[in-house]
Amino acid sequence: MIKQTPDPYQDLRDAVRALCAEFPDEYHRRVDADKAYPEAFVDALTKASWLAAMIPAEYGGSGLGLAEASVVMEEINRSGGNSGACHGQMYNMGTLLRHGSEAQKRFYLPKIASGEWRLQSMGVTEPGTGTDTTKIRTTAVRRGDRWVVNGQKVWISRVQHSDWMILLARTTPLAEVTKKSEGMSIFMVDLREAVGRGLTVRPIPNMVNHETNELFFENLEIPHENLIGEEGRGFKYILDGLNAERTLIAAECIGDGYWFIDRVTKYVGERIVFGRPIGQNQGVQFPIAESYIEVEAANLMRWQACTLFDRHEPCGAQANMAKYLAAKASWEAANACIQFHGGFGFAHEYDVERKFRETRLYQVAPISTNLILSYVAEHVLGLPRSF
Ligand SMILES: Cc1cc2nc3c(=O)[nH]c(=O)nc-3n(C[C@H](O)[C@H](O)[C@H](O)COP(=O)(O)OP(=O)(O)OC[C@H]3O[C@@H](n4cnc5c(N)ncnc54)[C@H](O)[C@@H]3O)c2cc1C
Repeated sequence: MIKQTPDPYQDLRDAVRALCAEFPDEYHRRVDADKAYPEAFVDALTKASWLAAMIPAEYGGSGLGLAEASVVMEEINRSGGNSGACHGQMYNMGTLLRHGSEAQKRFYLPKIASGEWRLQSMGVTEPGTGTDTTKIRTTAVRRGDRWVVNGQKVWISRVQHSDWMILLARTTPLAEVTKKSEGMSIFMVDLREAVGRGLTVRPIPNMVNHETNELFFENLEIPHENLIGEEGRGFKYILDGLNAERTLIAAECIGDGYWFIDRVTKYVGERIVFGRPIGQNQGVQFPIAESYIEVEAANLMRWQACTLFDRHEPCGAQANMAKYLAAKASWEAANACIQFHGGFGFAHEYDVERKFRETRLYQVAPISTNLILSYVAEHVLGLPRSF
């Protein structure tokens, strides 16, 4: 395995690696083939408290920084697993932590930290509006001490493996707000209560073994006490959580990138064609070397984002750039890996095609590469808004 030096997180890496080693390739391959949820793996991560890394100790978590949390995600992907099954548990709670009342934090966070409750879902995307989030049409209307929700969401992940979901809904019509980012609010939805009583969940079969769904809300009632923070400021609260999410996903892509490079380097060193290892050909070496350089460069930006975030300094640009670079680098590494495995790259038993599918997602979700370019153009370079 490629060594990264110096590594101040080696002990943490070793501990996560030891747990991941109990879930070898065959485990992840079988879960993928069965289109199942890696329940035993996620349980083990929960019991070891890794998913509670960023919950402060006073609420029962480990109180670690984004840097440490990102190492956990990286190691899961580097081991051959897919953090997509459980990364929501690590970062969704950040919205509660930053914007929830003290009573809400005391109510939810200890149970999320222990794993008794899973808060793995966040419902933002809608079929009719896509990336243009401020146009969402799902509404929540106040009726006394309850909110009544109507509308539709799409691509909402891990709903079937969550007890709670954070929901973004419009609480003041778009026509009545001065800024389009105002008038949306976020709510905690108790999925155990909601499904079948105003919420219908329709799974979306997709390219990756990623549990994701269409949601239909028809007069779903939510108690007023489930509103997080101030009414009307929900969009801002969601944006506040994105830096952690983007950086953690960058770390996952970096884990994938190293996984692909480790695998392909070993393979091309052993595979003999024309009487010599295929890795002796520069046509084979160069794309692998190039993707290694790109993964290493993306990693530097990931650490920069982590350092700023953990110092409570602005890190929007770095978090977005880390996600952009890492998703691109892991995809290039995936391409080199599948290419130089030849036909075997397509065989399930080599795991390359599975990881190839998994890492492709990150060019599109949770934010597409184009939207990151647009963010940098507008917010870093000061170019005119295009939308
Ligand atoms: C497996 C999976 C899991 C997901 N999980 C969740 C989840 O848990 N919760 C949730 O809320 N959402 C989730 N999503 C949704 C995801 O965040 C969106 O798919 C993504 O943000 C893109 O939105 P869209 O699909 O509506 O694409 P669109 O908005 O229709 O855009 C399509 C493409 O057009 C391009 N594009 C769009 N607008 C512009 C522009 N202005 N400039 C340049 N290019 C542009 C981009 O390349 C983009 O990829 C998930 C998606 C997938 C596939």
